[in-house]
Amino acid sequence: MIIGAGGVGTVVAHKVAANPVFTDITLASRTKSKADAIAAEVNAKYGRNVKTAAVDADSVPQLVALFKAHTPDIVINVALPYQDLTIMDACLECGVNYLDTANYEPKDEAKFEYSWQWAYHDRFKAAGLTAILGCGFDPGVSAIFTAYAAKHHFDEMHYLDIVDCNAGNHGMAFATNFNPEINIREVTQKGRYWENGKWVTTEPHEIHMPLTYPEIGERESYVIFHEELESLVKNYPTIKRARFWMTFGQEYLTHLRVIQNIGMARIDEVEYNGTKIVPIQFLKAVLPDPKSLGENYTGQTSIGCRISGIKDGKERTYYIYNNCDHEAAYKETGTQAVSYTTGVPAALGAAMWARGEWRGAGVFNVEQFNPDPFLAELGPQGLPWIEKFDVDLEVE
Ligand code: NDP
Repeated sequence: MIIGAGGVGTVVAHKVAANPVFTDITLASRTKSKADAIAAEVNAKYGRNVKTAAVDADSVPQLVALFKAHTPDIVINVALPYQDLTIMDACLECGVNYLDTANYEPKDEAKFEYSWQWAYHDRFKAAGLTAILGCGFDPGVSAIFTAYAAKHHFDEMHYLDIVDCNAGNHGMAFATNFNPEINIREVTQKGRYWENGKWVTTEPHEIHMPLTYPEIGERESYVIFHEELESLVKNYPTIKRARFWMTFGQEYLTHLRVIQNIGMARIDEVEYNGTKIVPIQFLKAVLPDPKSLGENYTGQTSIGCRISGIKDGKERTYYIYNNCDHEAAYKETGTQAVSYTTGVPAALGAAMWARGEWRGAGVFNVEQFNPDPFLAELGPQGLPWIEKFDVDLEVE
C-alpha cells in the first residue's frame, strides 16, 4: 500500500510495480484522480494491476477502513510528514508494517524531531510489527551510507558531514524540489549541528562555505538542521561532530528572504476576505508543482557522507556519494531527481522488509538495519554509489 500520489509517490509506484516481490499494489491518496493517472501509466508500462483508492490520511478511521479493504502487509507513507502518526496508529490497529521518508511534523509548529515516532516503539514491538523511519535519500541513504562506513571502514567515526548538492537547473525563477510547504519550513529554520555531546544552534544559513561536488564543481553550501542527525548521533556515540550541508543558489536565497519578509512563510492562520487561510499553504498553491519541474530539468544532484575517524589505529577519511541526473530520472519515471532519489530508496526499503532482510519488532531508523543487501541493490535500482578513501573532505 502506497499512500501519497505526489512526486515521490510516482517514483515509488514505478519501482514497486517493477519489483516482482510485490504481488498486490494499491496507491491511495487524497485526490484519487492523481493516483489513477499514475496507476494507468505504471500498469501500462509494467503489465501490472495497481489499484487506487481515495483516503484522507489525517483520519485514522478512513485509514483503518482502507487497510481492512485491501489488507496490505506494509504501507509506504509518501504523503506528508503531518500524516505519519495517523498512519502509524492505523497500522497498529490493523496489523500493518510501516515505512516513511520524513519524520513527523505538527502542522501548527515548524518543528521536526523523532520523539513522537520513537514513542511508538513499545506498541509496534508488542504488536510484532516493523516501522522503518526515514527511508528516502536524506534521511535514508545518508544514514545507510553512514552505517556502511561504520560496519566496513571505521572502528570509530569522529566527524560526519552529510553534503547535499542540487546542481540542477529547472529554468524557473523560484521553485522547490519537493512539497513547497515542507521544503520552505525546513530551510527557513535555525541551523543546528551536533558537537561534543550537545546541539549547537545557529541563525538560518549562518555557517556556509564552498564545497566541491564530484562532476559538478564548487557550490556554496550551508549548514542546516536535518532529521537524520538526531538518530545518527544517538546510534553512533563516537561521533564528535555531525553536520548537514545543503547547497542554495543566491537567487533561491533572495526569493526565500522576500517570502519570509513579506509574511508568506507564516504557518498560522490569517483572515482573508472572510476566510481563514495559512499563507504558506496559499503560497504552495501558486508555486510550480515540483512534479512539473521534471520536463526541463537538467544537471545532477550529488548527495553523500564525508566521514573521518579511526581504522586500525590510523586516521582515515572517507567519502561515499551518489550523483543522480535529472534528465535520466525524468526519462524513466516522469519526475525529477529529488523525487527519484527519495522514491527509489523507499521502494527498496519496503523490498528489504518484504524479503525478510530488514525485520524487527518496533520502530527503527534505517541505520539500525544491515546496510549491505540494501546498498548491493541500490545501484541496479538506479542510484549507483561511489566510495573515495583518504581524500580531502574540505570540512575540517
Ligand atoms: P507532494 O506534495 O508532491 O505529494 C504529497 C502527496 O500526498 C500528494 O499526492 C497529496 O495529495 C498527498 N497527501 C497530502 N495530504 C494527504 C492526506 N491528508 N491524505 C492523503 N494524501 C495526502 O510531495 P512529495 O512527493 O514531494 O513528498 C512526499 C514526501 O516525501 C514528503 O513527506 C516529503 O517530506 C518526503 N521527502 C523526503 C525526502 C528524503 O530524501 N527523505 C526528500 C523529498 C521529500 P494531493 O495530491 O491531494 O495534494
